[in-house]
Amino acid sequence: MSNAGRAEVTAYVALGANLGDAARTLRDALQTLGGTPGIRMTRASGLYRTAPVDSSGPDYLNAVAEVATTLSAPALLAALQGIENAAGRERPYRNAPRTLDLDLLLYGGARIDSPDLTVPHPRMWQRAFVLVPLAEIAPGLVTGHHLSAVADQAIERL
Ligand code: ATP
Ligand code: CA
Ligand code: CA
Repeated sequence: MSNAGRAEVTAYVALGANLGDAARTLRDALQTLGGTPGIRMTRASGLYRTAPVDSSGPDYLNAVAEVATTLSAPALLAALQGIENAAGRERPYRNAPRTLDLDLLLYGGARIDSPDLTVPHPRMWQRAFVLVPLAEIAPGLVTGHHLSAVADQAIERL
């Protein structure tokens, strides 16, 4: 359901990918996100590489986008899931599907606790791969205290 005609809400979306050309996946996802009706991209962080906790796993690439949207929060989540599904259907070079994860971090000042959607994202404050790119584009939202709580998590800006 859209909120067409309503004022835009500022929302933050976390993007992650860890298979195939993850940088390409994230750049494509950012472009698709900004081109979605009812969504206007206002800021995007750089891409960050996160060392996997498991030594054997592939690196994760992450970014955070700020959008201005006329979509309701559930409609925005549905749009994010549509982009994930579309990326998951592309298997250009490998047997394994590329993964793309799009999480809704914040939707204005809303607090949402429904079966399908919790906002603010309940685990965002524990994750350097969310907080560091978020701090790049919205420094007022992330305090030094938040960042020091995840300082043990290795993260590198590409
Ligand atoms: P995590 O949420 O810990 O990052 P994940 O991203 O791997 O884990 P998914 O399998 O992508 O988890 O999503 C599981 C479900 O989480 C989705 O079906 C969705 O309905 C629900 N969900 C709840 N709150 C949110 C949110 N803020 N953003 C995205 N999905 C959410
Ligand atoms: Ca996630
Ligand atoms: Ca997710």
